[in-house]
Amino acid sequence: MLDRVQQLEQVLESIKDAVLRVDRNLCVSLMNEAATTLLKARDWDGRSIEEVVKVPRFAEFLGRDNKQEDSSFEFELSRGPHTRHILARVTLQQDGGQVAVLRDVTTVRRLERMRRDFVANVSHELRTPISVVSANTETLLNGALHDEEFAPKLLDAVHRNSERLTLIINDLLDLSRLEAGSYSLHSGRSNVRSIAGRVVGSLVEKAEAKDTSVVVRVDGALSVMTDEAALFQVLVNYLENAIKYTPDKSTIEIVAHPRKGDARIRIEVRDNGPGIPDAYRNRIFERFFRVDPGRSREMGGTGLGLSIVKHLVEAMGGRVGVGKVEPSGSAFWIDLPKG
Ligand code: ADP
Repeated sequence: MLDRVQQLEQVLESIKDAVLRVDRNLCVSLMNEAATTLLKARDWDGRSIEEVVKVPRFAEFLGRDNKQEDSSFEFELSRGPHTRHILARVTLQQDGGQVAVLRDVTTVRRLERMRRDFVANVSHELRTPISVVSANTETLLNGALHDEEFAPKLLDAVHRNSERLTLIINDLLDLSRLEAGSYSLHSGRSNVRSIAGRVVGSLVEKAEAKDTSVVVRVDGALSVMTDEAALFQVLVNYLENAIKYTPDKSTIEIVAHPRKGDARIRIEVRDNGPGIPDAYRNRIFERFFRVDPGRSREMGGTGLGLSIVKHLVEAMGGRVGVGKVEPSGSAFWIDLPKG
């Protein structure tokens, strides 16, 4: 039988949150395993909290007089290359000691920041088209409606901007359906060459308008497990971007090959445009991330296409990425399970 103290020790060790106790002189008197791991503190017994945690603000917080019985304090902890956000809940004890339960809230804070950024980005994207619609209709109502030369121009801008709003809202709805998991995907075996052919067919006019040729180099025997409509949407997105962001008279290739060492097929859209600068390659699939926001908007882009691609492909059990084409250009790819 374990005695009470041993039982308490076991309870403390089995708590996944980091727990530590300091005495009235702010020297550490107890730490559970989660705390020694989080703080990377080996030799802690009797040492000052400042030495152990190495965050002067936290030590200073614990040292404050007239603290409430329960209080909390958030601080950043740098261990190695990563900074963690730690929330400490501190309870005063009768003998002047304090118990702190430390929780790693890095992911929560990151998600909160992403949500704030997302709302700010959406508002920013909607603001311009809405203000054009509102300013132009006001001008029309104030008399410009009867100006034969001016009225059509104002109306044309209203029309273009309301179409832009529709595009943004449709993309946002797609994204939220994907994130909520309510976008139904039906996986089946699809022939890669035939889908690639249909994708090229759907964008022939856009390619011709830029005198750009699109070549499909895919072995007719390759097939993948995918939702065909989703794969079509993904490849249209890649190809449309390739046409959009490369100079006139370019050549774009769609290629596919089995990956060595795993049961996947890589489908790539390769162009000889400006490519994605190294510094942005990790972020290019984020919502609203663009290399050149002004240029993207001018060309009717919403900045959401690639993040929809990423969600769709991940929902199908695949991966996305972008590589370089030498001497210049990008190779946007997806890996999907072999069909
Ligand atoms: P957008 O609506 O702006 O095209 P996307 O999410 O489809 O949004 O793409 C995000 C950004 O990635 C684009 O604004 C552009 O800067 C960059 N990009 C995408 N594809 C290419 C490409 N083939 N070549 C160069 N840049 C590209």
